[in-house]
Amino acid sequence: MTDNANKVKMLILGSGPAGLAAALYAARAELAPVVLTGTQLGGQAALTFTIENYPGFPDGVGGAQLGELFQRQAEHFGTRVEFDTANKVDLSARPFKVTTDVGEYEAETLIVTTGASPIHLNVPGEDTLLGRGVSYCATCDGAFFKEKKVIVVGGGDSALEEAIFITRYASSVTIIHRREEFRAGAILQKRAKDHPKIQFVLNTVVTEVVGKDKMEAARLKNVATGEETLLDADGIFIFVGHTPNTQLFEGQLKMDSHGYIETDMLMQTSVAGVFAAGEAADPHFRQVVTSAGMGAAAAIQATRFLEAESG
Ligand code: NAP
Repeated sequence: MTDNANKVKMLILGSGPAGLAAALYAARAELAPVVLTGTQLGGQAALTFTIENYPGFPDGVGGAQLGELFQRQAEHFGTRVEFDTANKVDLSARPFKVTTDVGEYEAETLIVTTGASPIHLNVPGEDTLLGRGVSYCATCDGAFFKEKKVIVVGGGDSALEEAIFITRYASSVTIIHRREEFRAGAILQKRAKDHPKIQFVLNTVVTEVVGKDKMEAARLKNVATGEETLLDADGIFIFVGHTPNTQLFEGQLKMDSHGYIETDMLMQTSVAGVFAAGEAADPHFRQVVTSAGMGAAAAIQATRFLEAESG
């Protein structure tokens, strides 16, 4: 670490609902927090077209718009938002040392809100046809599939919600799910099942994305009968869950077997002065409102931690 390192009372890694809610609370406690945005300003929520279950917005709110409102509110009270990504952390002693794409920080407290990333199917063709039919983001890529045939993989809230969104563009959407029961909530299930453009293929997995320069079909396998079929499609949107973005902290923070950072009720990690919130630490709820709540709690506790130290 050089003498030029930025010395801050609180560094927040990530700019999703957890990070920006933490920033709001820390800024109001006059800690002048710095938020490193990571690669996706606003986090995964910013990629969601409409969020219908964040309280205070009875008609729904755009994911990117909600992120901007969070950011503006945090900045209004003195948060500094940097378009930068941490790529190395040293949590062995305080102040914690963080190296980023463009500089270095020494932080008295750290709040980890690095979120999660979409899980891949790991089937042939998935990587090679990425951006040429394969996508993990309907809001980003849905409009490329006007009047096209699209497959959506998964049986959770994301798959059904995004399938309904893609019907704005696509001529048909086929949801492929490996079981018969869905994880998705009842309202989404009903909306998807009632939608005239949506069909379901159940008890089925995708074993290959087929195509040369662009996707042409998906190879499917019925898990009950073993029967293989080809389904013609121009696009495939994969929503089979998420994995936490916590590799940076491996060996430094205690995590569960899936890589979620372990915290106590006060959002404290295994290292005193390091707090975690949002999807990086939450395998259970993963909602905008719960992530924002965890972020606020982490900042309140970090403030108390610094106050206790200064007597
Ligand atoms: P999820 O709930 O973990 O669902 C993942 C789905 O993908 C499951 O149906 C799972 O099948 C399937 N799957 C997993 N691995 C697979 C594989 N290798 N091949 C085929 N299918 C596979 O993930 P999510 O839908 O992204 O949701 C994540 C969290 O965000 C949830 O807590 C959800 O409630 C929340 N969320 C909420 C909303 C909302 O409230 N509007 C919107 C989006 C997300 P099985 O069911 O067989 O395991």
